[in-house]
Amino acid sequence: MPSTLPITPTEKTRQRPEKAPLRADSEFVWSLTSHCCRICFGRILVRETFDRRKVYRCSCCETEAEGHSEKALCCCGLKLKTGVDAGVRCVVNEDPTPEFPARVIARQVDHHERK
Ligand SMILES: [Zn+2]
Ligand SMILES: [Zn+2]
Repeated sequence: MPSTLPITPTEKTRQRPEKAPLRADSEFVWSLTSHCCRICFGRILVRETFDRRKVYRCSCCETEAEGHSEKALCCCGLKLKTGVDAGVRCVVNEDPTPEFPARVIARQVDHHERK
């Protein structure tokens, strides 16, 4: 005679993992940008919404911002308290070192380099 076990959801199956890494986002295609997050210097990803807006997202801290350019989230958009461009730009690190392994870094640029 087969034993029948009562099927009840256990605490474990009912609880969602604390950090659900993939929300509905897994259905989106994110592309890498050559910009880095102004909060944590993580690489910024971008996707286009169905109505052709752009959503930027940090691959590290998962901050999301909508905007016309990476500046919505990246270091290029850093401003001084006065509202003046802080002159920081994201640059691709062509030669990552153990000290600076990040592929994209933020650096201060001279006035004439600013675009
Ligand atoms: Zn970040
Ligand atoms: Zn940038």
